[in-house]
Amino acid sequence: MMTSRVLARIFRRNAARQRRRLSSLGVGADRYRLAFLGQPRPARGRILCYHSIGTPEWGVNDVTPKRFASHIEVAFAGGHSFVPASLIAAGNASPRALAITFDDALASVRNALPVLSAYGIPFTVFVVSDWADGKGRWADGRALSWLQLEEITNSGGTIGSHSVTHANFGRLSPAAAADELQRSRETISAHLGLAPSEFAIPFGRRRDWPESAQRLALGAGYTTVYAQSEDRRPPGTVPRTFVTRWDTDRLLAAALDGKFDGWEE
Ligand SMILES: [Zn+2]
Repeated sequence: MMTSRVLARIFRRNAARQRRRLSSLGVGADRYRLAFLGQPRPARGRILCYHSIGTPEWGVNDVTPKRFASHIEVAFAGGHSFVPASLIAAGNASPRALAITFDDALASVRNALPVLSAYGIPFTVFVVSDWADGKGRWADGRALSWLQLEEITNSGGTIGSHSVTHANFGRLSPAAAADELQRSRETISAHLGLAPSEFAIPFGRRRDWPESAQRLALGAGYTTVYAQSEDRRPPGTVPRTFVTRWDTDRLLAAALDGKFDGWEE
């Protein structure tokens, strides 16, 4: 017989799923509205922030492999070229330059490799070091292992850090934040032989990155911290254009025109 505790747990889980679904729908509605009503911005180097490429449970963050390939075609058709994110971060890229980045280092990123390799497109993957270690909630093959990450670097990918546990820095003590920043960098270096100089903010919203975290990141040896938004990014961070599961070719073109630059998830 089901106890009330079990029923309460099922109810909470369903409520959380429903909330996620509604928030994803909200993101989709925002993007359609802005694609029609948003103001385009002058072209400038733009860094795209993807997550999974064929992990449906990543919800709003997931783009199918077919759609990803289609996005690349849209970019070329719009006269864009692809460069490493670090080049745009340094301000050394042409106005129509684009960069591809993937947060969370999920195994499904490998679904993007055929099209990236075919065009020789550089890309950056931001690793959660505990997940690559097989620890935590996604230690079930969903995250890239160290061996798979080595293959990513061999196929031309750059590795950045995305913390040890995908912690929310808005809720961490300075000591815990410093640990997430330093230890992920050391672990990546121990496994892949190179200490990353780039960091992507877990969750990536302005409220998830206090100024103290930015200071600690620079102190830990990172030169570049990437946000997950454009205008609303935290001070000192590099903007990125968040790409969502809603982004059809037409919506991606709107994103490349800067119509979502004022938006934050
Ligand atoms: Zn993330």
